[in-house]
Amino acid sequence: MLVIECPACGPRNTSEFSFSGPAKARPGPDPNPESWRRYLYEQDNVAGVATERWFHVNGCRLFLDIERHTVTNEITSVRRAGSADE
Ligand SMILES: [Zn+2]
Repeated sequence: MLVIECPACGPRNTSEFSFSGPAKARPGPDPNPESWRRYLYEQDNVAGVATERWFHVNGCRLFLDIERHTVTNEITSVRRAGSADE
């Protein structure tokens, strides 16, 4: 069982969350389709620590940025998406 320490709700099972993919900066207002293609479709397949975005869909409904080791599932950091310590 994987538990995420939500900053608003405390420790919760991942069944309350929805995975939203890797946490990465969105392209600017640039209408360049190539930058949007890279943002939407190019993803690293990391065997190690990855920063992911999760949505607490059955809780506070916050988006969270989580650093998780993709092999061991160890979570080392949880913060609100877009918070200052990114
Ligand atoms: Zn929450």
